[in-house]
Amino acid sequence: DAETLAVTLLSPEALAAQGAEARAAYARLAAAGLKLDMTRGKPSPEQLDLADGMLALPGNRDFVTETGEDARNYGGLQGLVEARRLFGAMLGVSPEAVVVNENSSLAVMHDCIVWALLKGVAGGKPWVGQDVAFLCPVPGYDRHFGLCEGFGIRLIPVPMTGEGPDMDAVERLVADPAVKGMWCVPVYSNPDGVTYSDATVRRLAAMPTAAPDFRLFWDNAYGVHHLTENRPAPHDILGLTAAAGHPDRAFIFASTSKITLAGAGLAFFAGSKGNVAWYLEQVGRRTIGPDKLNQLRHTRFLRDLDGIHRHMAAHRRLIAPKFAAVLEALDTRLGGLGLARWTTPEGGYFITVEMLQGSAKRVVELARGLGIALTPAGATSPHGRDPTDAVLRLAPTYPSVEDVRAAAEGIALCIHLAALEAAGL
Ligand code: PLP
Repeated sequence: DAETLAVTLLSPEALAAQGAEARAAYARLAAAGLKLDMTRGKPSPEQLDLADGMLALPGNRDFVTETGEDARNYGGLQGLVEARRLFGAMLGVSPEAVVVNENSSLAVMHDCIVWALLKGVAGGKPWVGQDVAFLCPVPGYDRHFGLCEGFGIRLIPVPMTGEGPDMDAVERLVADPAVKGMWCVPVYSNPDGVTYSDATVRRLAAMPTAAPDFRLFWDNAYGVHHLTENRPAPHDILGLTAAAGHPDRAFIFASTSKITLAGAGLAFFAGSKGNVAWYLEQVGRRTIGPDKLNQLRHTRFLRDLDGIHRHMAAHRRLIAPKFAAVLEALDTRLGGLGLARWTTPEGGYFITVEMLQGSAKRVVELARGLGIALTPAGATSPHGRDPTDAVLRLAPTYPSVEDVRAAAEGIALCIHLAALEAAGL
C-alpha cells in the first residue's frame, strides 16, 4: 500500500549535491562529540517525578482497606477491591475480572507461559512436549519475542497493517494446531503505534483456531498513554470473545510502569471467570499474597479513572514535545525525498522509521559514529533478524527535548547518508 522507497527517484545532480552536503554535515556533527541514547522506552526522571506524591502514601497508620482488611498482612491474592475497581475501569473490564500483581506485567506474561507449558491453560493439556508456536505481529516488542525464544516456542511473523495484524494471514495461520498463542499490543502498539481497528478485534475474537487452547496474549501496555487529546476507549475483548463463543481466548496484561513508576508500579492480569480462577490457582502456590500497600498507595494517589487520565495528561505535556521534535527533524532532512517514511504516533512510546532495504544496520553504525545509541536494527523482528534490514525503532521519552532533537537530527542525517552511500555516492 505504501510507495516504494528508492534513491533512484532523485536526479544524479541532486544526489551528488546531497552527498557532499551530507558528508560535510556528518563530519561536523562527529566533531561535536555527542553522547545520546535513544534505545529504550523508559520514562524520564521528570515523568517519574509526577508520582513523587505517591511515595508518601499510604502514610503512617493508613493501612485499612475498603473491606476492612489490614493491607500490611498476608493474603488478598486477587488484589484489593478498590485497586481492581480502579484498574478494571482503565482496562474496560469488571473488578472481578482483574488480578493485581507485583510490579512487572512481563513477569505475569512469563508466568502464564510457564504455567501453560507445565500444566496447560484451563481445560487444556500441558504445552511442553508439543510443537508450540506463537504468532508475532512485526514490527513488535523484542521482549515478547525473547520470552517465547527462552522456552523454545516457535515465532511466526505476521505483518502489521495500519489496522493491526494482517488478519487474512492470521486466520490462515491459526488453522495450524501448533499455533497456541499470539502477541497483541492492541492500543498504540510497540513500536509502530497502531491501534487495532474494531474489525480486526472482532476477527481476532471470532476466528476459528485449530488449537482449542489457543490464547491471545493481549498486552494493553499503552491503553491510556495518549499523545493527543483523543482517548480511544479500550476494546471490549472479553465481551467480544464471549459473544463469539470463545470466552477464555484472551489473557489481558497491563501495568502502571509508564503511569506511575516503571520499577515500582502494579501489574495486572485480567480475563474470563475461568481464566481468573486458573490464574489464581497457579499464583496461589507462588505467593501468599501481593504487596497491598503498593495497591493502597496507587488507589489513594490516582483515585479514579479521571485521576488516571489527569496524570497521563501530565505525562503527555512532558513527552509530546519530544515526539514532535523527532518528527520535525526527520521531516526537515528527509521530507519529500522518498528515502524513508515514519509513523506519527497518537500514543505509546515509540516512533518507527522505515528506510531503504538493507540500510538499517548501516544507519545504526553511522549513528554510533556520532555518539548516538540506537536499538539494534532487527530488534523489532523475531530473533532480532529483520530480513529487510529496513526498520528502526526510536524511543524519545527519556532524554531531554534538546537531546532528543539533536539525536533525531543526527539520525535523519545518517539515514540520508546511508541511502546516498547505497547509491554509490
Ligand atoms: N509490554 C509492552 C508492549 C512494553 O512495551 C513494555 C515495556 O516497554 C512492557 C510490556 C513491560 O511492562 P512491565 O514494566 O509491566 O513489565
